[in-house]
Amino acid sequence: MNSNIITIDGPSGGGKSTVSQMLATHLHYTYLDTGAMYRAVGIKIIRSKIDENDQEALNQLLTDIDLRLSTDDSGTKVFIDNDDVSQAIRTAEMGMVASRVSAIPAVRRTLTTLQQEMGQQGKIVAEGRDMGTVVFPNAPHKFYLDATAEERARRRHLQLQEKGEASDYQNLLQQIIKRDHDDSSRDLAPLKAADDAIIIDSSTMDAEAVVRFMLDRINAC
Ligand code: C5P
Repeated sequence: MNSNIITIDGPSGGGKSTVSQMLATHLHYTYLDTGAMYRAVGIKIIRSKIDENDQEALNQLLTDIDLRLSTDDSGTKVFIDNDDVSQAIRTAEMGMVASRVSAIPAVRRTLTTLQQEMGQQGKIVAEGRDMGTVVFPNAPHKFYLDATAEERARRRHLQLQEKGEASDYQNLLQQIIKRDHDDSSRDLAPLKAADDAIIIDSSTMDAEAVVRFMLDRINAC
């Protein structure tokens, strides 16, 4: 059992990133944002203009990929071939691309191996869709953070409005529902709670309350 790993899985927009970063900072663990890795591979595929169904070209891209994450208090920075793609991967469009390429077996195999290697380097809070089920099945602390699709769309809508960006609630809700459906219905590493994960519905909890709850559960072990 790897006692240094805490996994946090759940659907998009459930507050996983905020909570994972807060928990990692509190415990002095490293935060591993695996969604950023799928987004980075998505952007690499698009920029390379390869056909993602072309197995040979895709395998070559995955062999050559130079993907680096660096995390500090301001969040995760993502580099592909030394190019900082941290901003470029954060669009709604790249979220949909990441969701599509994450269903490709070769992409999952490559990133799962990379994530497991990162997990061996120290104490981590690993956030994603399959952290507790596939990547770190022996992690001692597993959480699954959920909230209704409406609440997740509402929070995202508010975030975008606060940043002064254009946002349409109905559009966001439809995107969230589609991504949930695609992520949980794929054959490989579908989005689901591990049997031994603690499920938290954060619809009526703020991030501080969720982190307090998690710390209580971790400290109780
Ligand atoms: O968490 P984030 O929204 O950045 O993830 C983008 C997409 O990457 C998700 O919708 C999901 O399809 C995919 N993903 C995944 N497995 C992970 C993390 C993300 O399939 N561990």
